[in-house]
Amino acid sequence: STPGGPRAREEKIVVTVRLRPLSKREQFAKDQVAWECIDDTTIVYKPPSQERSAQASSFTFDKVFGPTSITETVYEDGVKNVALSALMGINATIFAYGQTSSGKTYTMRGITEKAVIDIYNHIINTPERDFTIKISGLEIYNENVRDLLNSESGRNLKLLDDPEKGTVVEKLVEETASDDKHLRQLINICEAQRQVGETALNDNSSRSHQIIRLTIESTVRENSDCVRSFVASLNFVDLAGSERASQTHADGARLREGCHINLSLMTLTTVIRKLSVGKRSGHIPYRDSKLTRILQHSLGGNARTAIICTLSPALSHVEQSRNTLYFATRAK
Ligand code: ADP
Ligand code: MG
Repeated sequence: STPGGPRAREEKIVVTVRLRPLSKREQFAKDQVAWECIDDTTIVYKPPSQERSAQASSFTFDKVFGPTSITETVYEDGVKNVALSALMGINATIFAYGQTSSGKTYTMRGITEKAVIDIYNHIINTPERDFTIKISGLEIYNENVRDLLNSESGRNLKLLDDPEKGTVVEKLVEETASDDKHLRQLINICEAQRQVGETALNDNSSRSHQIIRLTIESTVRENSDCVRSFVASLNFVDLAGSERASQTHADGARLREGCHINLSLMTLTTVIRKLSVGKRSGHIPYRDSKLTRILQHSLGGNARTAIICTLSPALSHVEQSRNTLYFATRAK
């Protein structure tokens, strides 16, 4: 059974890996491919020379996507069922996890586009229900929350605990999309706003997390005095570069540069590892970071999660690629 098939439907966490092609820059630098997807679930370390490794060299996941796979396939086989569950009132979160330049933003943008198409197809095919789609977008940089739909005053937003809704971001703008075109425009505004941060702050995207949250509400009139409604969040999360979660960068010089370990990313990896262990895992430290507080109700419990781990194929990035695969293994 495949992740897009029956098995995935009941799984809470779907973990996939996407190996991108060697970039022009990597080719120009005479870097070489060190990884190969040998079938649709297994990726192996295959360095070009006879170089041997004592470390694990084969990793198996729900699905692996090689350098010729298109985003549509990644969406169909690894994300679609998770995303569509939000239409049925089940909170869902899609993550892109991987080192800087491994393809997180590339993948997440494509996935978001495909999900928007699917959501509106579902709406058209479900005339008996009335749907409302709302969107908000935020960025977490150094544990500061910035509103991507409010560049004027949406900075350093506070998190509040609402007795009904759980953690809410104070003053975060939420827009109601009038149709799919409008929704795409709002998503584009979020993405453009993130790029503004990128030029203002050197290296912003490797350190910041972006969340685009769709709130999908639908109602159906069962008879004259009974209306049934569903509401759920669907979160698209483009994470900071995973090198920000690794111990190797925690040396003194980096710390002085303010380039330290990313608290939200570290906490997220702990939360996901504990969720994947299940009931025996004990306390789950959602409250330790902004990212995990904001996503708390969309992780664990009944919520569904898809994690796409993106990987550079380059030999020069083997260490980070391994770290990503270890994370992916622990998330399973
Ligand atoms: P990240 O967000 O992880 O830092 P990007 O998504 O910006 O990485 O990708 C880095 C570069 O690689 C970009 O130029 C992007 O267009 C390219 N890229 C990423 N994934 C793929 C892919 N699967 N196929 C082709 N090009 C890709
Ligand atoms: Mg990026």
